[in-house]
Amino acid sequence: MSIPRTNYGYSRGHRAVEILAISFVLALLVGFSVRIALAIDTWRSGLALVATASVAYVATDVLSGVVHWAGDTIGNERIPFVGPNFIRPFREHHVDQKAITRHDFIETNGNNCIIVAMPLALAYVLMPATLGFGFFASSLVALMALFVLATNQFHKWAHADAPPAFARRLQRWGVILPPRHHDIHHAAPHDKHYCITVGWMNPLLNRIHFFRVAEALIARVNPAWLYIEERTRLSATGAAPGAGRTPAPRP
Ligand SMILES: [Zn+2]
Ligand SMILES: [Zn+2]
Repeated sequence: MSIPRTNYGYSRGHRAVEILAISFVLALLVGFSVRIALAIDTWRSGLALVATASVAYVATDVLSGVVHWAGDTIGNERIPFVGPNFIRPFREHHVDQKAITRHDFIETNGNNCIIVAMPLALAYVLMPATLGFGFFASSLVALMALFVLATNQFHKWAHADAPPAFARRLQRWGVILPPRHHDIHHAAPHDKHYCITVGWMNPLLNRIHFFRVAEALIARVNPAWLYIEERTRLSATGAAPGAGRTPAPRP
């Protein structure tokens, strides 16, 4: 298999791990689908599954914000393994927003599959065959894993010049990440609107200063872990929040 060249340190070994993780996660999701389809047999259990999916979607939006914030804000690219493979893509994304649109399926979904593989496997092993709390808790984990995979695709479409027509419609309806909403994150100094599944939770997390509180807590433990030079640099050049934005070209 030929290894596409990328503009950051995307190694052959990491790509091999990504392919393994994607295969593993997709196989588990197929297994979950079969088990859920066999167990849901009344409208009440169907309704409970819809409620579980709704909770999973909102929870994934929050999770996407926390992971994105962590990638933007904590550590540096020199940390072994985590730096080049998980932190650098976030930092590169602020420099070249369009790079994500050039990533193939493996590069788009690989890292997320590595992250969700173990929780998903655990949920699969622990999932009971009969309906009940354990069943829906395991379904919640499976649905969150599915939405985590969808998140990178939604983020990619938010930057695409020509996303598929159905994706544009979903963006217009606000049920997947709308490009204009995501542009707010890409406006200097890149310190808000971190949620990238759909963005519903961004106003709430901004209002309660969720990420500023998290940064204050980290600063109390070890300020050296924080990477906020980008914001400082942008502030020094006169870029106020919402000003000096660097919007991605829109069709
Ligand atoms: Zn970012
Ligand atoms: Zn983006």
